[in-house]
Amino acid sequence: MHVVIVDPSRVVQQKLATELEATGCFVDCFTASDLALQYIEATRTVDVVLTSLEIDPIPGLELCWTLRTFVGEKRPLHIIVMSSNTSERALAEALDCGADDFAVKPVRREELMARLRAANRMITLQRQLVEQASTDYLTGALNRRAFLATMEEKRRELDASDDLSVCLLDIDHFKSINDSHGHDVGDEVIKAVARIAGEEAPIVARLGGEEFAIAFPVLGVEQAAHWCEVIRNNIAGQTFESATESFQITCSFGLTSWNPDESLGIALQRADRALMDAKRGGRNQVKVAEPAALELA
Ligand code: GH3
Ligand code: MG
Ligand code: MG
Repeated sequence: MHVVIVDPSRVVQQKLATELEATGCFVDCFTASDLALQYIEATRTVDVVLTSLEIDPIPGLELCWTLRTFVGEKRPLHIIVMSSNTSERALAEALDCGADDFAVKPVRREELMARLRAANRMITLQRQLVEQASTDYLTGALNRRAFLATMEEKRRELDASDDLSVCLLDIDHFKSINDSHGHDVGDEVIKAVARIAGEEAPIVARLGGEEFAIAFPVLGVEQAAHWCEVIRNNIAGQTFESATESFQITCSFGLTSWNPDESLGIALQRADRALMDAKRGGRNQVKVAEPAALELA
């Protein structure tokens, strides 16, 4: 576990750090709470913050509150506050400000270890929940909700001049694959498509049924079209086995560029129309949507 200790006393910091490091924790110590805050915000690997309430320049309760607001629901962070103030009020205030646990100073080794084991259980559980909520159970790809969130996050990270290409991918005649070979074989086909797409595309999501979205940050549509062709070829070249025979499948692709001045929904509508064109054009092909400006003209 990666633990950050925030305490005004270097002696206390050293004692706690030595105990934690002996159990395999990776530990960072801070005297100034503003520097600790900056570090924790920027360092996603931090699992546990062990902070005194009596710290400067940001008071302990405010540090808890700020951290809790910053990390939100998705990033597991366990906050343990330490204080020599044993009043019930201090405990209640700390928990209300976003702390998960409270230890009375001086914190003894046995107690510290027990509280860290509890922290580990909570963090592991929260990680599993976050992962389950964002993952498609069949393929392990992102689910629809996580795809939308990931795309919005990417758009924020990129510069307005950076390209971000997005493509909808749909398995051709999938109903007849199910009908001919059974639902379980159909599921294997869906899993294989997700795996093959994931070998080339950095973002892969299963939107539902046999429909996927893939995205290529920083790539313009021409470059993205090249990678879609690679995926299309690799899928078409894959041989599947059912109980009675070998068979192959194909997929259709609708690709567009998500412009920074439009919503993702608009870009996805454009990709969907390109996908329909690919289906109408005979399937097993990549269609690039008309640029947004031309479409409006
Ligand atoms: P097209 O080429 O036009 O895309 O035709 P299609 O047959 O692929 O499309 P259609 O929408 O008619 O059929 C999709 C089928 O996908 C129908 C549904 O039973 C099946 N399906 C949806 N979800 C799953 C799943 O999780 N597993 C399996 N095996 N089948 C699924
Ligand atoms: Mg289909
Ligand atoms: Mg479909």
